[in-house]
Amino acid sequence: MKKILAVAFCYAAFAACNNPANKNMGTQDTQFDGYKERFIESLWKLNPGWASSVGYHKYDSVLVVPDEANRSVELAFDKANLDSLKGFDINALSDNNKTDYKMIENQLRSSEWAINEEKAYEWNPASYNVAEGFANMLSNDYDSLDTRLHNFYLRMASVPAYYEAAKKNIKNPTTEHTQLAIDQNGGGTSVFEKDLQDALAKSHIDAKEKEAITARAKEAANAMKGYADWLKQLKNDNPRSFRLGKELYAKKFDFEIQSGYSAEQIFDKAVQHKKELHEKMFALTKQLWPKYCGNKAMPADTLVAIKQMIDTLSINHVQPDSFQAAIEKQIPELVAFIKAKNLIYLDPSKPLVVRKEPAYMAGVAGASINAPGPYDKNGNTYYNVGSLAGWPKEKAESYLREYNHYIMQILNIHEAIPGHYTQLIYSNQSPSIIKSILGNNAMIEGWAVYAERMMLESGYGGGNTGQAPPEMWLMYYKWNLRSTCNTILDYRVHVKNMSKEEAIHMLVNEAFQQQAEAEGKWKRVSLTQVQLCCYFTGYTEIYDLREELKKKLGDKFNLKQFHEKFLSYGSTPVKYIRELMEKE
Ligand code: ZN
Ligand code: ZN
Repeated sequence: MKKILAVAFCYAAFAACNNPANKNMGTQDTQFDGYKERFIESLWKLNPGWASSVGYHKYDSVLVVPDEANRSVELAFDKANLDSLKGFDINALSDNNKTDYKMIENQLRSSEWAINEEKAYEWNPASYNVAEGFANMLSNDYDSLDTRLHNFYLRMASVPAYYEAAKKNIKNPTTEHTQLAIDQNGGGTSVFEKDLQDALAKSHIDAKEKEAITARAKEAANAMKGYADWLKQLKNDNPRSFRLGKELYAKKFDFEIQSGYSAEQIFDKAVQHKKELHEKMFALTKQLWPKYCGNKAMPADTLVAIKQMIDTLSINHVQPDSFQAAIEKQIPELVAFIKAKNLIYLDPSKPLVVRKEPAYMAGVAGASINAPGPYDKNGNTYYNVGSLAGWPKEKAESYLREYNHYIMQILNIHEAIPGHYTQLIYSNQSPSIIKSILGNNAMIEGWAVYAERMMLESGYGGGNTGQAPPEMWLMYYKWNLRSTCNTILDYRVHVKNMSKEEAIHMLVNEAFQQQAEAEGKWKRVSLTQVQLCCYFTGYTEIYDLREELKKKLGDKFNLKQFHEKFLSYGSTPVKYIRELMEKE
């Protein structure tokens, strides 16, 4: 080990001495590291709520009042930092700093755009809600309860001013976001009325201070309710449409997804991909029909036939009481398969800790990765597996059909190995606080979605045949159809005016979703923008990059090396990883 390090150092020294352009490499990086520290410190000062949510609690006593003056402060911060960035020669920075540079720059530009052009603070009344921040101060025990309650008290002082500023900002809000804000703010006061009282009872705070806290909590709750009432009575003859429109959508897509493709290009690709998925699914349905349906006539409508085959296969699922055990059992199987096929190095010193989901997550079945935040270095990463104990029989049955024998394996690939969990371990090896804070969701989700396909292509689930079985592929395509249709839905709703009826029709008949899932998706697409595109976009970019490198390198292409190299850049937008990998 020592020897390898020594060789590496020699090489670095040699390169630096012989290349005059690289002479300042060390100093530029050192300076940039210093700059990043200052940037983050002032970012937290400006955004105490965000800071608190990632585990940085220095500014917990501050609630920012979202008024015009505050927006000016933010714009000044963006401008000053964009100027600071110009002082660095990006080419002289390490790969890690190069990508950090681009991600900071994107964050600053995105903030400017949100204030000057998107202006959600005018049309989205649901962007104002203090409940969650206060609730987290009570439920997360990062500090003594008395300290947290003291900060809670100080922070409450600004709640009335916060909602006054909100009322001043709002102009022609959308009906959908107005209703959401009424529901959330009207129903969110329990944090001041009940949760706070429970916490006070457990604390060591004296009676006099408790009284002061309770009095202030009353004012905070009144301000929140007052805001909901104000919205109910708001005269809004000309509500803005919740649809973002082509121009804003394209920009938002660029800032949030940070893709090498435009929103329109990704939409076109998704439409094409859906068509291909339907063709593949029909071919598999024809192949599987005799095995499962014998002589029964196949429906003439191809989509109806596919749906029947999916329903037939979905009956293959575990019993409710063995759901957790079945998920746990698969983890070592995935590890063994990856090793046997030489797909990616898995650090044996960091096995995945599978646990029953903690009580506060109870009721959410399925599985999810729980990673420690950037300021919680000693925290464990867990794979939370939900239990179906106590579920009504019908609900459990419907859930198990959805997460049937095949989909459950795909879920494990996505969430755990080699999906999110593996990606996380690699990203922790090139630590960057910028990437843990501004990490690119399209890359993170894209990797997990890519991993699903890659595992099936490598023959997962096929045992000695070396080929994933057709049942597995059909279910995988259904699963993949979900992220593909998320992208189509988002774009068509926000840019092409798709109606609710058309949307539900597409999700139920062309993506084979349940009515309830489709209704939930409609609600989500009417309240968010662009988010739904991250899965398909990241996946497409990674897959395209891999196929291009394969073509370019021919026999020299090595899948394991590609995966390890790709992940070594951390949670960076794929377009930047592409630049760096192409250069190599
Ligand atoms: Zn069943
Ligand atoms: Zn995911």
